[in-house]
Amino acid sequence: MREVAELLAALPTELWIGGEQAPALAESTFPVHNPATGEVLIEVADAAAADGARALDAAAVAQSGWAATPSRVRAEILRRAWELVIARRDDFAMLMTLEMGKPLAESQGEVDYGAEFLRWFAEEAVRVHGRYTHSPSGNGRILVTKQPVGPVLAITPWNFPLAMGTRKIAPALAAGCTMVVKPAAETPLTMLLLGQVFADAGLPPGVLAILPTADAAPLTDPLFADDRLRKVTFTGSTGVGKILLAQSATRVLRASMELGGNAPFVVFADADIDAAVDGAMAAKMRNTGEACTAANRFHVDNAVRAEFTAKLTERMRALKVGPGHLDGVQVGPLISEKQRGTVTELVRDATEKGALVATGGARIAGEGYFFEPTVLTEVPAEARILREEVFGPVAAITGFDGEAEGIIAADNTEFGLAAYIYTTDLDRALRVAEALECGMVGVNRGVISDVAAPFGGVKESGLGREAGTEGIEEYLETKYIALP
Ligand code: ADP
Repeated sequence: MREVAELLAALPTELWIGGEQAPALAESTFPVHNPATGEVLIEVADAAAADGARALDAAAVAQSGWAATPSRVRAEILRRAWELVIARRDDFAMLMTLEMGKPLAESQGEVDYGAEFLRWFAEEAVRVHGRYTHSPSGNGRILVTKQPVGPVLAITPWNFPLAMGTRKIAPALAAGCTMVVKPAAETPLTMLLLGQVFADAGLPPGVLAILPTADAAPLTDPLFADDRLRKVTFTGSTGVGKILLAQSATRVLRASMELGGNAPFVVFADADIDAAVDGAMAAKMRNTGEACTAANRFHVDNAVRAEFTAKLTERMRALKVGPGHLDGVQVGPLISEKQRGTVTELVRDATEKGALVATGGARIAGEGYFFEPTVLTEVPAEARILREEVFGPVAAITGFDGEAEGIIAADNTEFGLAAYIYTTDLDRALRVAEALECGMVGVNRGVISDVAAPFGGVKESGLGREAGTEGIEEYLETKYIALP
């Protein structure tokens, strides 16, 4: 494909430091693969500790100037970046499909969603408020003001290469923080192109660095230890999140953690089953199931389980799987052979323990990391797939009897990110949504992410909230000034 060759040839492949492209000091590079073919797409610069130090030097130098820049000016740069991403929508979408595998239509959706954080936080930048009041004791006045936290390290995952970056970069820049971003090794290309967008939008040098690497810890460990870093924001697995939280503790860094999920999709006996199946397809299959909000477990009231299962199976069987850039493809490859191995193993474990395969169940032969859209039924409670994040196109269905049992089943996990419930009874919807232990509940909806809503989890799903009006608070410190 000629356009792809041209797109890759024009792509910035070096590190973004000080507002410019710069090779890694060691001049090392690493390959980025296309998961639909396993082939190498391109080589990009591989940042090491010395590059991290350079980037943090620049961020620390730029911090006070950026914090003092009028919020209207910061907002206008973010707004301009939004315009530029939208203008290059096709390039961003194709890059994401190439490096991550998602179908082109989903990549285009992510460009709009990911860019929207830039516009949203451009609007939030000028609405950071403080507080002024009198002490109830009568002895003095209280002035409360908000200030940027300071230089931030962002570590992002591969599943939403643009949106997981902009959901952190936009509020940080809006708040007046500088930021060093380490994108996932699997998908650095989208962030490298975003670096170009910010350079073109007029972001001052040093405010944003983008440092891809094939080996994260040697780059990030010294940054955690550097007393100029003030905060870390991470999206990724709970296992890595715990390591980073422990590292943050050494210098009591502020930390925002968007970690793993194990979202229940609960269908009550009074649900509109066709709507529930539509929602299930979106909640399960968006991004080939590689999302922390993906429906992981389907708990269906036994009164409607047979109908729901039959309809979902039919829809899953009809899906078109293939390379994301081809017309009509609805399901792309998984990100890697390792990820496909994990999915295969979870399905094997479930069937060995008694689950039945209604459709799919196996990897697809040939090039690329494809796996069949799969429905498992009669999944026993001891199956690992009900406890662990699948990150793949597998729906595991299990039954329950009545509302109370449905809530217990839904909450039976150490995670607490998203949950989905289907019911036509408004009282039940509110009662269950309020009872569930999680950060986000979709009521009769299969997709809940919204730039204007707070995203985040409880329990082992994380700390803090991104997006919404809450998102900028993660990058602000509260200062109290006592007045006579
Ligand atoms: P996944 O298993 O989905 O790849 P991870 O949690 O392993 O999720 O990775 C999310 C991000 O965290 C990626 O950018 C990855 O490079 C980074 N990462 C993984 N391990 C570490 C580590 N020890 N220190 C810093 N970053 C890490």
